[in-house]
Amino acid sequence: MYRLVTHFGGGSWALTPEEEQQYIEKIRLLLTIGHTMLKKGYTALDTVQKIVELMEDSGYYNCGKGSITNYNGVVEMDAGIMCGKTLRGGAVATVRTIKNPIKLARLVMDKTHHRLLACEGADEFGKKKGLETVSDSYFVRYQPVETSYFGKAPHETVGAIALDKYGDLAVASSTGGIDDKLKGRIGGVPQLGLELYANNKTCAVACTGIGEPFMRLVTAYDISAQMQYGGKSLEEAVKNIFKEKVEGGLIAMDKDGNIVKECNAPEMLYGYIKEDGSPFAEMYKTPLKN
Ligand code: ASP
Repeated sequence: MYRLVTHFGGGSWALTPEEEQQYIEKIRLLLTIGHTMLKKGYTALDTVQKIVELMEDSGYYNCGKGSITNYNGVVEMDAGIMCGKTLRGGAVATVRTIKNPIKLARLVMDKTHHRLLACEGADEFGKKKGLETVSDSYFVRYQPVETSYFGKAPHETVGAIALDKYGDLAVASSTGGIDDKLKGRIGGVPQLGLELYANNKTCAVACTGIGEPFMRLVTAYDISAQMQYGGKSLEEAVKNIFKEKVEGGLIAMDKDGNIVKECNAPEMLYGYIKEDGSPFAEMYKTPLKN
């Protein structure tokens, strides 16, 4: 059995129905690519990395080419990847010149004894390892439309979780961060356990939205720990986190391939491969609270 779920950010997309449909089509295609990889025997780790790489290159999402800028008008990207089998992970923060931060995160995981590299050190390491570099002009450079995250942000962060036929879970995520950030701000995506976590014993989790509340709650690891030590189901564990003050959404998958999504932002674009192998994607609209 193999499963795949992806998110493209929780926030306020404010797309026209036609634009929404275009995004949904793009996501279906992406899910089909990932599904084909899993079917061919690619690992969950390679599959989630590839999906995120494609998103980084597309310019349509808040990661890689499409990353939003900080207050200084500069792109600083975060990315993380984690393997549920080995609990090994790699992450990078405030990357400025590497075209695919997710590839760099994977290199940190595979080729160093570290977990997180940041700033020039991360860029330098990527360059040394032969990763493609880009100049400032490469980025689409969407300017934040409003300062509030739940304002009219033009596009969002991405995350992917897969379960492969070997029974292994993996998660990957990449982001330009929130649209309201100081130079040097690092979000929860590259801090393993905060917005991203995978453990074959329990589940894999990828969060999106304002990182800071998710970080305070050590959200991704908390969900896994509730399952491992508290005997909760994935659904119960996710519901418990959303009783706390979080702002955004998440996708999660347990070790048996059950998928859960939750969101308290106005919208979250997400998709998954259904049991019959066909791709499903939607712009989830969070019901308004009275
Ligand atoms: N959670 C990410 C961060 O705080 C941003 C996002 O998901 O859009 O950097």
